[in-house]
Amino acid sequence: MLRNKNITDIKVGVLGGGQLGKMLALAAANWHLPLHFLDRSADFPAGLPGANFSEGSFKNYDDVLNFGRQMDVVTVEIEAVNTPALKQLQSEGVIVHPDPQKLDIIKDKGLQKQFYQQQQLPSSAFTLFEDGRSVKAAIRNGSLSYPFVQKARTAGYDGQGVAVINDENDLPKILPNASVVEQKVDINKELAVVVARNHDGEIRTFPTVEMEFHPVANLVEFLICPASIAQEIDQQAQDLAISVMKAFGISGLLAVELFLDQDNKIWINEVAPRPHNSGHHTIDSCPTSQFEQHLRAILNLPLGDTALNCPAVMINLLGSRVGTGPASYKGLAKSLSVNGANFHLYGKKITKPFRKMGHVTITDQNLERAREKARLVQSSIEISPTGTN
Ligand code: ADP
Repeated sequence: MLRNKNITDIKVGVLGGGQLGKMLALAAANWHLPLHFLDRSADFPAGLPGANFSEGSFKNYDDVLNFGRQMDVVTVEIEAVNTPALKQLQSEGVIVHPDPQKLDIIKDKGLQKQFYQQQQLPSSAFTLFEDGRSVKAAIRNGSLSYPFVQKARTAGYDGQGVAVINDENDLPKILPNASVVEQKVDINKELAVVVARNHDGEIRTFPTVEMEFHPVANLVEFLICPASIAQEIDQQAQDLAISVMKAFGISGLLAVELFLDQDNKIWINEVAPRPHNSGHHTIDSCPTSQFEQHLRAILNLPLGDTALNCPAVMINLLGSRVGTGPASYKGLAKSLSVNGANFHLYGKKITKPFRKMGHVTITDQNLERAREKARLVQSSIEISPTGTN
């Protein structure tokens, strides 16, 4: 059906209007393809001037159904959407990517782990628990031993629903939620591969990236591409990402987060079926960005070139820890003077401690120099509530 339509006439709806939606809209604008967004407020990042923005909840059945019925294709920029409405839309002939059945699996970290087990894909051993009390009971009766990682099955985000329990001193951190408890991997590096697949089954990966985390916020602090790993490890990471994509069989992007352990074994941590933080650098360092690739994939177009034009370091611009309020940017001019630093501000009105307010990708042939520039940008810029800086 889509092949008979002019690309500028295809109605593409996106559930979620945050920064990922905004960057999808910017990629779509190159083709003059208007995207339509559903989210609570047109003040959100994807609510650019002239945007087609419907205010409503992507968690609400009727809102999603009414929005989707006006679209040819519906996709997501967040997992926490109403999947029963997406299934209904699918039955009415709307093209929905990713497949809502698979989205149901990915949304629930417990089902996701069971999926890897069924598919014989490498992911750390796990047990499901109904609540925090049963986790503590399992420790007492000896069926669960330290160290382990407890994750809320649903609604976890940017490390919020994750508790690393090393010994009894960490017991107060145990989450009350229905959760999956995983064996703690002895991590050497955290890697990610963003992979795309279109309906015809064409698959392409972006280069493997390496993530370094902020010690307090548990958010990615530096993202480095290419990852500094041996070529054979890189190949294994790429092959594994392709296997995971084939197992899910969805169209669009799949960001596959991986752990490389101290014995050089690779484990799947989790996946996201949408553009992802670990692919932001592709806007400035690859011929095709992850955002354009997602559009190509969901429209069943040929996938674009993913080779790395230039090494890159990406940093998230996080709200400072001083408080919540209207965002003000200090030191922007100084950081803009750094050569090769590409700024992406999301336009969120309110800053909060560690909130993702933007990102900067530094491209440089020399990765060490790129890291230094990233540190300079990081130390120059501060995003805090108006009146506090
Ligand atoms: P989120 O979905 O909130 O991003 P993740 O499942 O990616 O949460 O976990 C956040 C971080 O917690 C990971 O990046 C990693 O540093 C740590 N972590 C998660 N699972 C494990 C594990 N099984 N072993 C060791 N560390 C883990």
